[in-house]
Amino acid sequence: MRYNALQVLKQGLAGNRGWKRAWRKPDPKPDYDIVIIGGGGHGLATAYYLASVHRKTRIAVLEKGYFGGGSAGRNTTIVRANYGLPGNSEFYSHSLKLWEGLEQELNFNLMHSQRGIINLFHSDGQRDAFARRGNAMINQGDDAILLDRAACREMLPYLDYAQTRFPIYGGLYHPRGGTARHDAVVWGFARGADRLGVDLIDRCEVTGIDVANGSVTGVQTTRGAIRAKKIGVAVAGNSSRVAAMAGMRLPIESHVLQAFVTEGLKPVLDHVVTYGMGHFYISQSDKGGLVFGGDLDFYPSYASRGNLPMQEHVMEAGMTLMPMIGKARLLRSWGGIMDMSPDGSPIIDRSGVGGLYINTGWCYGGFKATPGSGHCFAHLLATDRPHEAAERLRLDRFETGRGLMDEEGTGAQHNLH
Ligand SMILES: Cc1cc2nc3c(=O)[nH]c(=O)nc-3n(C[C@H](O)[C@H](O)[C@H](O)COP(=O)(O)OP(=O)(O)OC[C@H]3O[C@@H](n4cnc5c(N)ncnc54)[C@H](O)[C@@H]3O)c2cc1C
Repeated sequence: MRYNALQVLKQGLAGNRGWKRAWRKPDPKPDYDIVIIGGGGHGLATAYYLASVHRKTRIAVLEKGYFGGGSAGRNTTIVRANYGLPGNSEFYSHSLKLWEGLEQELNFNLMHSQRGIINLFHSDGQRDAFARRGNAMINQGDDAILLDRAACREMLPYLDYAQTRFPIYGGLYHPRGGTARHDAVVWGFARGADRLGVDLIDRCEVTGIDVANGSVTGVQTTRGAIRAKKIGVAVAGNSSRVAAMAGMRLPIESHVLQAFVTEGLKPVLDHVVTYGMGHFYISQSDKGGLVFGGDLDFYPSYASRGNLPMQEHVMEAGMTLMPMIGKARLLRSWGGIMDMSPDGSPIIDRSGVGGLYINTGWCYGGFKATPGSGHCFAHLLATDRPHEAAERLRLDRFETGRGLMDEEGTGAQHNLH
């Protein structure tokens, strides 16, 4: 069934009883050519592109809970391509271009809104760094505009410009950045993959990876053993645990990231605003809630909930930047697990085990990467060669020290990325 205005009208007149399930609910088959572990945005996008671009068949996505129940459904929905370093720059640029045609391609309203992102800066040194990053973005073919304080004041009048601790000097404006509805991205890719014959199997936890003579032969799951010629791991915050099933130790540390939403308000924020000095960022959802977040909880954890000190820190930063936020009532807070890589950049690569491919290290930035990650991971799984946009996202950079992409310049400090 194609989704369009006429269909909405037709179904509405018929009491909305004619809508079809968005995807099938098949039982697992005993064997597949390709098994993707993890039914978040990345796993589903990978399956979709394997089927659509590479015409692969006999594919299954195995998800231990429900599709989109992980970080795909917990993030603050920011989509951007404002990276400066080679490796990240071309990858996120590739991903943003895919976003821009995705709603038409998937025939699904992802509520992708290119409302623009402004990264504030607070010193001359930071202005220089942002100017350099903006130039790198423009060289990559993306957009960036350096705003002075007056321009910021005009665009973002609700910020506190009298604050002296970190006075607002200006901002780097990325007009093509914005937000998208995270659940819709999961549903859109799930429906797209299902329509191309991919089996989407939920409530199916992978508990073991079978390896013989150095290559994978299949997986053990809570719904039985499944044979597979190739296995792609796209489990976001659980990468170390799943890789360990094949005897691998990944250069990953897992931390909780929290986020918050207020009650619905009338439109007040037109853009996404980030306040790096205070570890705070904010946007307004289409339902009216102010959606915001801050830094990682600083200790490693697999719990999908956060601690109170970080909540206090985020509220303080919010009040410092835009005191009017104090009038809004907080509705909810939640947490998700981030797989932090030592240089803060992702990994899309083969592993040391034949037929086993790894997609991880998305830190707190993997939502915007969803189409790019799926597209490049599918390319790797189908051709055994990295996609040109993901050539530098290699696992061995942590062994050799060559090709590290330390965007924040914080070294191997997971809690500072
Ligand atoms: C609070 C918060 C805010 C964020 N904000 C942003 C943002 O604004 N912009 C941005 O770009 N990124 C953001 N992120 C990061 C982003 O959400 C993640 O990087 C991204 O969603 C990870 O990819 P995924 O969608 O595939 O992950 P997930 O949705 O976590 O998918 C992985 C899936 O694997 C499944 N799984 C795990 N183990 C197994 C197993 N053994 N067997 C079967 N299945 C298994 C899990 O159940 C899960 O569904 C944020 C994250 C959080 C938590």
